[in-house]
Amino acid sequence: MTKRLYYDDSFLYDFDAEIYEVLETPRPGLILDRTAFYPTSGGQVFDTGWLTPDANAKLRVTEVADAEDGRVIHYLEAARDDLKPGTRVHGEIDAARRRDHMQQHSGQHVLSAAFVRLYNIPTVSFHMADDYCSIDLDTPTLTKEQIESAERLANEIVLANRAVDIRFVTREEAGKMGLRKLPPTERDELRLIDIRDFDVTACGGTHVAHTGQIASILLRKTERVRQGWRVEFFAGLRAVATARRDFTTLTETAAMFSAHIYDVPQQARKALDEIKSLRKQYEHSQEELAAAYASVLLADAAEVHGRKVVVRTLSDRDLNFVKLLAQKVTRLFPNVVALLATTSPQPSLVFAQSPGQPFDMGALMKDVMTKTGGRGGGSKDMAQGGIPNAEGIEARLKGIAATLAA
Ligand SMILES: [Zn+2]
Repeated sequence: MTKRLYYDDSFLYDFDAEIYEVLETPRPGLILDRTAFYPTSGGQVFDTGWLTPDANAKLRVTEVADAEDGRVIHYLEAARDDLKPGTRVHGEIDAARRRDHMQQHSGQHVLSAAFVRLYNIPTVSFHMADDYCSIDLDTPTLTKEQIESAERLANEIVLANRAVDIRFVTREEAGKMGLRKLPPTERDELRLIDIRDFDVTACGGTHVAHTGQIASILLRKTERVRQGWRVEFFAGLRAVATARRDFTTLTETAAMFSAHIYDVPQQARKALDEIKSLRKQYEHSQEELAAAYASVLLADAAEVHGRKVVVRTLSDRDLNFVKLLAQKVTRLFPNVVALLATTSPQPSLVFAQSPGQPFDMGALMKDVMTKTGGRGGGSKDMAQGGIPNAEGIEARLKGIAATLAA
């Protein structure tokens, strides 16, 4: 088993060790006799860093994992053939990444304990990733007030700068201590993280020495999950970076409205109301325009055997308008067939007939689609379809009109 130096000292950023085994497949990796690198476990993600064999170039450690037999595997960015068991290496972990992980993980202990203290809500799982951290709370409901109170208490514990001690006890001793969480493993010795007079939990992770090093805990999104509620949070410098990003986003948005950032919701609501009202006006205008346009088309169309066949290709109106126009044309006059098209933005066809006309617009459309490689269809009185290009579109409509008039 690899001796885990981080168990006793989370602030040990470099160390000396000896290579115990060299792994070549499936990925190059090293097992050392001792390590300060943290392997992914208990919700906390792995450290990265460097291993330096004597007088040689630094080897980048890209991932660290627990093997089933208790050894720690250091995966290397690239394979090296001069490494063998017994080679001495100097290890150096990425201190900024470790500090961030300590802030998130200790922040999680404080936050989970705050939910227990205030509302007796237990945490059932902890997720840490590069983008955000979250805890899942076992509770059917979670209010805004509960979130704000837990956030406040957690930050008060941060401000109080309480000592965070690492203790090792037997399972029996732990059983009497009223831990927030007791792991199900059979191991006899347990490692406890003891936040003085606030929280004691069994945990193998790396933690700050005093809660002040967590710096801050910011709660963000909450969402319902299968078991209860998920709460996203950011601790330490991540909280600062997140607040900075939020401010940048808000500032950009506020600039669009020439408003103060706190007035953005009000401005956005006003703009949405305006859009809604303009859309209504626009739809009304389109209706009027389509009705007027329909009258013109009908006046121009010749009547053959008591029926008017209207053929028109529009280049400056979209499909919605053409559909509206087809409706108007076939309702203003009882015996009308409309064969309409638009060339932009997407070449499309709309066929319609007044109720009671003998043709089948859906079948007519299907036939054109088959010939042009387009997609579309419809009912007996109304059909639409999109075609790959607008070339020869007017001639095609005229051809169809001729067959209908025959
Ligand atoms: Zn933990």
